[in-house]
Amino acid sequence: MFDKILIANRGEIALRVIRACREMGIASVAVHSTADTDAMHVRMADESVCIGPPSSTNSYLSMPALISACEITGAQAIHPGYGFLSENAGFVQMLEDHDITFIGPRAEHIRIMGDKITAKDTMKALGVPCVPGSEGGVNDVDEAKRVAAEIGYPVIIKATAGGGGRGMKVAENETGLEVAFRTARSEAKAAFGNPDVYIEKYLQRPRHIEIQVFGDGKGRAVHLGERDCSLQRRHQKVLEEAPGPSITAEQRERIGAVCANAVAKIGYAGAGTIEFLFEDGEFYFIEMNTRLQVEHPVTEAIFGVDLVRQQIRVAAGLPMEFQQEDLAINGHSIEVRINAEKVPSFSPCPGKITQYHAPGGLGVRMDSALYQGYSIPPYYDSLIGKLIVHGRDRNEALARLSRALGELIVDGVDTTVPLFSALLEEPDILSGDYSIHWLERWLAKHYA
Ligand code: ADP
Repeated sequence: MFDKILIANRGEIALRVIRACREMGIASVAVHSTADTDAMHVRMADESVCIGPPSSTNSYLSMPALISACEITGAQAIHPGYGFLSENAGFVQMLEDHDITFIGPRAEHIRIMGDKITAKDTMKALGVPCVPGSEGGVNDVDEAKRVAAEIGYPVIIKATAGGGGRGMKVAENETGLEVAFRTARSEAKAAFGNPDVYIEKYLQRPRHIEIQVFGDGKGRAVHLGERDCSLQRRHQKVLEEAPGPSITAEQRERIGAVCANAVAKIGYAGAGTIEFLFEDGEFYFIEMNTRLQVEHPVTEAIFGVDLVRQQIRVAAGLPMEFQQEDLAINGHSIEVRINAEKVPSFSPCPGKITQYHAPGGLGVRMDSALYQGYSIPPYYDSLIGKLIVHGRDRNEALARLSRALGELIVDGVDTTVPLFSALLEEPDILSGDYSIHWLERWLAKHYA
């Protein structure tokens, strides 16, 4: 086992990893930019190293700075968290060259899944059902028109290098396709440095269902059920729950086994998420994330496992602490993402926290790096906390979420908390009857 791990991240996820390290008796090293000198992850870690100026390109994304920080502190492994360098195959390669262990999958698997066209081809070959669409990339408008006519409108044009909900354009008909195709390509080039796009059938009212998988890197893998992440704004998740209100035990077993087998077959190591759109009882693969997800705590809650601990174990060459038959679902869990944003514009709202009080009690988990007097810097993601509740069933989880939101105090900046309080009044949310388009429509109606 490692003696010391460096966490190449900030905010709540850095804290999450430090906590796992501490429980395992492993020393932790925080890295930070000059804007994060007073951040909670710096205070909580055993050691810290300043790795650069505020801009993440020159700090949290600086591979030489991170490697130097490992060398200075003697950290033997890096946990990347999510975002930043968590899905960067070049970084994994570079760490290997420096004899530093990356806590995550092999570079090869990150590379395959990082290119969405290759990911789809790979998954299809492994027996995973995919959204109907183009075979590989689409290079010009005429080809796009041919493919769209074949699969039928509406279609969605997606960047092969896409991520974070960006680089997607919907076309309702042939006229719209031309504009959508050109815009998607130029946006993809600007955002990801790669203009390649592909086409998929645009599903009308699917749910976003993702399967948590975990591999030991030696050909064994398990699944930990699904999360429903359909409540989205601009293709970005806002609230997640597990198990999915629309998924039956039989559907879970079927798709879970397909996913576990697929990752076992490629010798995948560590945590991964296979994302699907789910409509009329069918699953359609959209992408795989080769890292820990923001919403992993809802899975941890219902299965009673610590996913970060398992990631660290597998990276150290130890076996997972469970097999498929040990994994049983207990109750229901919901997570809400608390962002420092002004509703309804969702514009970022950095600033000083004048008062902070975290909710507590049975079945409540608050993952946040906030503290009273902390100043949220304007340079990074606006996620400031995740409130996760766990109940014996969905109704208890909903009641607990409502109760916990009432206890939470975050003063000094605007947050998305009022949005969640309003959502908990909605019959569709209470019954679990929502698709990926529900929230956008609700926002349009309520804040028009
Ligand atoms: P990203 O990597 O940017 O998150 P994804 O491929 O995971 O992109 O898609 C993000 C979201 O976009 C999905 O959860 C869904 O809401 C929407 N989406 C993607 N593909 C389709 C599709 N074929 N039909 C309808 N919605 C889609």
